[in-house]
Amino acid sequence: MKIAVLPGDGIGPEVTKAAVSVLTEVADMFGIAVETAEYDIGGSAIGNFGSPFPEETANACLESDSVILGAVGDPAFDHLKPNERPEMGLLSLRKTLGGFANLRPAKAYRALIDSSPLRKEIFDGTDLLIVRELLGGLYFGEPRGSSGNEAYNTMRYTTAEVERVARVAFEAAVVRRGKVTSVDKANVLETSQLWRSTVDDIAKDYPEIKLEHLFVDACAMRLVTDPKSFDVVLTENMFGDILSDEAAVLTGSLGMLASATIGGKIDLFEPVHGSAPDIAGRNIANPLGAIASVAMLFRHSAKNDSAAKAIEDAIDSALDAGFRTVDIASKGSQTVSTDEMTDIIRRYAVENAGTSRAYHAV
Ligand code: NAD
Repeated sequence: MKIAVLPGDGIGPEVTKAAVSVLTEVADMFGIAVETAEYDIGGSAIGNFGSPFPEETANACLESDSVILGAVGDPAFDHLKPNERPEMGLLSLRKTLGGFANLRPAKAYRALIDSSPLRKEIFDGTDLLIVRELLGGLYFGEPRGSSGNEAYNTMRYTTAEVERVARVAFEAAVVRRGKVTSVDKANVLETSQLWRSTVDDIAKDYPEIKLEHLFVDACAMRLVTDPKSFDVVLTENMFGDILSDEAAVLTGSLGMLASATIGGKIDLFEPVHGSAPDIAGRNIANPLGAIASVAMLFRHSAKNDSAAKAIEDAIDSALDAGFRTVDIASKGSQTVSTDEMTDIIRRYAVENAGTSRAYHAV
């Protein structure tokens, strides 16, 4: 696999260094040949190329199998107009790669359960994946506009747009716990009625997957009352925007969260957090969100679930053993640097890969 790595700004280079080191180690364990190369994006690209998303970076991404992004954003460029700032690099990257499905897992790590705003007994055991349609719906529908004291947007979906993202959700459920919750507002919206009937059609190809339909308001409530009842949550663009942030906040720690944007020309993997300029360059950033994004790369791009699992289990093992970066430190835990946490994950990943290989051999 050819992987373009875009470290970006702030803690971006620190967490992508961690991600690449785990990627290389685990790929080697599973016999996957990977080749990585770094390219500029964001503030560093403005400094070197005069643009937050230089042509060289765009071309390199399009010639790769996957892209790993750190984060963009640098206060040194705050004086620039919004369309010249580092953050524009991210929007241009997403547009260039064209992914239509955004995947955001939210999981209760047992060792961090007390950081959740939910009561332990409600959140414990939660492990869900939100699959959000990213290129359709209200944010893109035409016509849109405003005149005087009236404004309007259009929510529009085609069967083909729903089908392709529904397949992503069902495929994810196949390697997870076999359940898809499709979220809509079919009691009110025609787009949701089309959404629901199209998802029902796709479900016929996945008889082993349990499908349930849920209205978006009910889903928002169930996320905080019974989050462990979800496996894969499939939804349209705006509902997904809101529900994925609601699910993220339940985990209580921004540095732990991973994401993938897939289905376009090239898949993109990135931590959910930003460039965190307040802690950049101090070797204290939490690399686990970026490392968990590598697990998603193995699962969704390399189609190697065992490699993904080795990384996810390594994160569990490191947290269970009491290792914490400073953002998730608690009484009695051992605070480690970005580099130390990365080494610990690599060690556990190798151990887990060894165990799973031995298991397969038996
Ligand atoms: P942020 O996510 O960078 O930081 C929010 C807070 O969380 C900060 O206190 C930070 O120290 C902490 N934090 C974030 N990631 C962490 C990690 N891995 N380990 C430990 N602590 C972590 O959000 P912000 O402060 O609102 O934005 C900073 C810059 O990042 C801005 O320029 C913004 O535009 C940009 N940004 C980029 C992305 C992206 O590249 N995907 C996303 C969000 C924000």
